[in-house]
Amino acid sequence: MTTLRTAAQLCEHGYVPSERRQAIEKVTARYAVALPESLADLIDRSDPDVPIARQFVPDAAELDHRAEELVDPIGDDVHSPVEGIVHRYPDRVLLKLTHVCAVYCRFCFRREMVGPGKPAGLSQAALAAAFDYIRSHPQIWEVILTGGDPLILSPRRLRAVMESLAGIDHVKVIRIHTRMPVAEPARVTANMVRAIKLKRKPTYVAVHVNHPRELTAQAREACARIADAGIPLLSQTVLLAGVNDTAGVMDELMRALVECRIKPYYLHHGDLAPGTGHLRTDIAAGQELMRRLRGRASGLCQPTYVLDIPGGHGKSPIGPSYVTRCGSNGTQAVVEDFNGGQHRYPVR
Ligand code: SF4
Repeated sequence: MTTLRTAAQLCEHGYVPSERRQAIEKVTARYAVALPESLADLIDRSDPDVPIARQFVPDAAELDHRAEELVDPIGDDVHSPVEGIVHRYPDRVLLKLTHVCAVYCRFCFRREMVGPGKPAGLSQAALAAAFDYIRSHPQIWEVILTGGDPLILSPRRLRAVMESLAGIDHVKVIRIHTRMPVAEPARVTANMVRAIKLKRKPTYVAVHVNHPRELTAQAREACARIADAGIPLLSQTVLLAGVNDTAGVMDELMRALVECRIKPYYLHHGDLAPGTGHLRTDIAAGQELMRRLRGRASGLCQPTYVLDIPGGHGKSPIGPSYVTRCGSNGTQAVVEDFNGGQHRYPVR
């Protein structure tokens, strides 16, 4: 089986019941679909409402667009000075090389920009202009390759990008955001790993993983190839209803990531992407989940729970607070411990 991309293929292989085919065709006409074999194999065809299927098999609920949802939910466009660059924070930029991914996540915050029929990746001229922008802004300390999935590019093309960035003195760190180790682990070859490793500047790889089942033996091997090359790995996880919104699943996922030498980095609150309301949770539930994770798992297993503020205002941590002020003049604090016990502490 190759990657499934149409409602007909999803029906033929038993991932969508034939009576839902017409509804799913409307979804596939609107949003990109790609279900590679490595992830399709994790789906129980008799139970479509499972964590892997909910992430990757299109659902008619995606046609339910809510008033608060936005085409550009985190406000990339208002911070895009040249094609392919998003310069939201002073010391770092996103460099969006491609709009293609190995798998299309049903909750993707860039779902209006990724996939076939969407704008093509950067042309050579646009890439040169993006490098010029980075070169002419000495405050840019870090460049984050994102997309789409940068690891969809050939090692040769990726190497050329890495070397160009390495040649800019003020760029000290290059970070790559990717889903490839879980989507198509076989593409994370030794050659690919060599392409992203630089001699004098660190590359960080942030892997997008939402459920422990995604960390198959092949996915773990792909991550190990990256880690064995001395490239630090971070994780990004999206909090998703019916996928990972219980303390048990989140605990298992975070431990599995750490066991794979991936440091949990961000737990993203679901963005207001069109047609994703059925996958979002509420913030209070996310905070409670973080509180429970803090109570049961090692500090290594704690991501930062963040929300991207619409309009391009950036990420803010929205995890629970463990300290409140008290006393008549606010000179005392109450600090909560990991079991929920409360303790007074002088403010200074
Ligand atoms: S891999 Fe990333 S960019 Fe691609 S569809 Fe999934 S969330 Fe979106």
